[in-house]
Amino acid sequence: MQDKLTLMIPGPTPVPETVLQAMARHPIGHRSGDFQKIVRRTTEQLQWLHQTKGHVLVITGSGTAAMEAAIVNTLSRGDKVLCGDNGKFGERWVKVAKAYGLNVEVIKAEWGQPLDPEAFRAALESDTAKEIRGVILTHSETSTGVINDLQAIAGHVKAHGTALTIADCVTSLGACDVPMDAWGVDVVGSGSQKGYMMPPGLSFVAMSERAWTAYERSDLPKFYLDLGKYRKAADDDSNPFTPAINLYFALEAALGMMQKEGLEAIFARHERHRRATQAAMKAIGLPLYAAEGHGSPAITAVAPEGIDAEALRKQVKERFDILLAGGQDHLKGKVFRIGHLGFVCDRDVLTAVAAIEATLQDLGLAKAPIGAGVAAAAAALAG
Ligand SMILES: *Cc1c(COP(=O)(O)O)cnc(C)c1O
Repeated sequence: MQDKLTLMIPGPTPVPETVLQAMARHPIGHRSGDFQKIVRRTTEQLQWLHQTKGHVLVITGSGTAAMEAAIVNTLSRGDKVLCGDNGKFGERWVKVAKAYGLNVEVIKAEWGQPLDPEAFRAALESDTAKEIRGVILTHSETSTGVINDLQAIAGHVKAHGTALTIADCVTSLGACDVPMDAWGVDVVGSGSQKGYMMPPGLSFVAMSERAWTAYERSDLPKFYLDLGKYRKAADDDSNPFTPAINLYFALEAALGMMQKEGLEAIFARHERHRRATQAAMKAIGLPLYAAEGHGSPAITAVAPEGIDAEALRKQVKERFDILLAGGQDHLKGKVFRIGHLGFVCDRDVLTAVAAIEATLQDLGLAKAPIGAGVAAAAAALAG
């Protein structure tokens, strides 16, 4: 049906009317006082979201620009880094790090399993020569629906003393607690089309004081992504290049909505939706892909044994105008993923569960009485 599409993918996520309306105006000059006011306000809002007193810089680009910026601004050619890899986005970190000639030691976990903080601790403790410059990982691994223990790993990095913690928080920021200063995370990258309830186009890099010290010695090539330029501009409530001005309008509106709701309430909502979605899938008889107890608050990956996940997904889209995400790489056809990140309410979760149940019934694949999933989700949402 025209205009009825509901996105339940882990980005882009649904955008509230207020945010869309905020964007629907003429751009203003990016060297104007009016724009400076927006930069000042959004900077404060971003610091609130990141729970930091440090700089949070805004780049026009997708989330991967934030990942690349994190690396090129804090590390140098040949630097040794530990890279966590338990899914598609962990793999991406490894690729970016290698593209810049870093000496990468990969710490792997199976897809669906969380990274083991003990593996990081062991590698860091054995580095008595202090050669490791950075520990790079994905907080919420979107491809598998697994949340990694960033707090524990950052704690081990702190104990090491010299390495930085660099985290992709693209699907954790705005979904669960990421107090970067309190945890001692040095670089946090994110993107507008995820927890921010905005269209794609802006990415964000938050930097600690230690990250800025590392910036001074970093020799990797950079120009558009040189965060020193962004810091200098930010100190003058500005942006070094022509930013996506209308997305700044959206950013101010979206973060305003988030502030109104409050961090605790936002995290509680995502936690409730995680629980409800997981309970529903179990009740329907569809196994979860992420290891028990390690599911992401932003996305639930489901491995419907014996069912073509792509056929199910296609039918849910065609009949109900709900877009679910598929499995990536070797998980294509084996996994589908339900995004519950950003502008998502209880109704969206109930509707998605009902649509999945109705589709299974349609395809003659229902393993449980129809309605079992909705009942489980409703109970989890109430409790
Ligand atoms: C979406 C996403 C990104 C960024 O991808 P872009 O397409 O570049 O915006 C990075 N990391 C994770 C974990 C993501 O979910």
